[in-house]
Amino acid sequence: MAYKISDACIACGTCAANCPVGCISDKGSKYEIDPSVCISCGTCAAVCPVGAPSEE
Ligand code: SF4
Ligand code: SF4
Repeated sequence: MAYKISDACIACGTCAANCPVGCISDKGSKYEIDPSVCISCGTCAAVCPVGAPSEE
């Protein structure tokens, strides 16, 4: 299962900078994960300051 970013995202970019497969992109007011590429490593959830990413 892929991870998904909730509306709590403050678009800081930390998750995108740390994702090992580069599947997180800037969508303006929040960041979004491409579920077809995400390997569910959990790194984004671990580095996010507001706990926005979680496993679907
Ligand atoms: Fe990237 Fe891992 Fe987060 Fe998936 S779980 S978006 S692979 S950092
Ligand atoms: Fe949004 Fe968290 Fe990623 Fe920052 S680390 S862009 S707050 S999901």
